[in-house]
Amino acid sequence: YGHHNRLHFFTSGMDNQARRWMEIESELRQALERRELQLYYQPLLCARDGRIRSLEALARWHSPALGWVSPAEFVPVAEESGLIVAIGDWVLHTACAQARRWQDDGLPPVRVAVNVSAHQIATGALPERIREVLARTGLPAAQLEIELTESTMMADTEFTSAQVEAISRMGVSVALDDFGTGYSSLAYLSRFALNKVKIDRSFVHKLASDPKSTTIIAATVGLARGLGLQVVAEGVETEAQQRTLIAAGCDALQGYLFSPPVAAADLSRLSALFAPCEPYATPRTALAP
Ligand code: C2E
Ligand code: MG
Ligand code: MG
Ligand code: MG
Repeated sequence: YGHHNRLHFFTSGMDNQARRWMEIESELRQALERRELQLYYQPLLCARDGRIRSLEALARWHSPALGWVSPAEFVPVAEESGLIVAIGDWVLHTACAQARRWQDDGLPPVRVAVNVSAHQIATGALPERIREVLARTGLPAAQLEIELTESTMMADTEFTSAQVEAISRMGVSVALDDFGTGYSSLAYLSRFALNKVKIDRSFVHKLASDPKSTTIIAATVGLARGLGLQVVAEGVETEAQQRTLIAAGCDALQGYLFSPPVAAADLSRLSALFAPCEPYATPRTALAP
């Protein structure tokens, strides 16, 4: 077949990186229906008492053809191909159903945080999807959080802020992920209905070696406080980082020091550390009446 020959010629002329991208894309197309995706959950610890009040859901993919593929590699492919919309929908439903199940199993009501991509926002259907999933799973809105990145917020700001506002009005909390890695102006922070800022792990990583990251974290905490936002530090790996971040005023910490992301079944081992999540006040934004 001419078509196949052309494809073969095309792929053999491509560099390894492009070939890998294509392999991932073609395997990922079937990953959902073949049930190859799972969610792992990483606890966020309250800086005051060390208790777990929320968990971040993180996608894990084992492909029979490619083995384990990290989300750092497959999420960009999923985004460019549009597959992220279906995957993100599965993540949302699975995480909410799981949060409900833990509670039915006797854990205190924890909040589950789901990473949301710009494409999911762009569909315009996310608020309605969230409403449906909450109704279907019976998870209270206050126990769901969505995590957005700065680049998501920067794309079509008016539309995005209206979508985020609609989600926030349901009582779902909203976190800005990877704070400090994007291009957003600080002024943008107050335009979105945010509850939380997550300081990117690159700043936490540099704490010991680069005094500037201490300054950035202290300034972020100050700014966030002024805007009524919670502050989370990601990627906490050492006790020295933990001490610095608590002293800087972070509200919650997340990182390998406490726990890596783990399978849902493994969380019961941490059950003594759980405490009910605390409700956040609904944020006020420039759009709010
Ligand atoms: P993220 O949302 O910023 O998630 C935090 C990442 O940091 C996770 O990587 C987590 O495993 C890792 N991490 C946690 N603690 C530490 C630590 O102490 N040290 C270090 N070095 N890393 C730590 P992961 O699971 O590989 O995910 C990477 C990224 O992929 C996520 O970054 C998120 O942007 C994206 N992602 C993962 N799952 C989903 C998903 O379901 N939907 C979407 N849209 N994106 C996802
Ligand atoms: Mg995240
Ligand atoms: Mg992050
Ligand atoms: Mg990230």
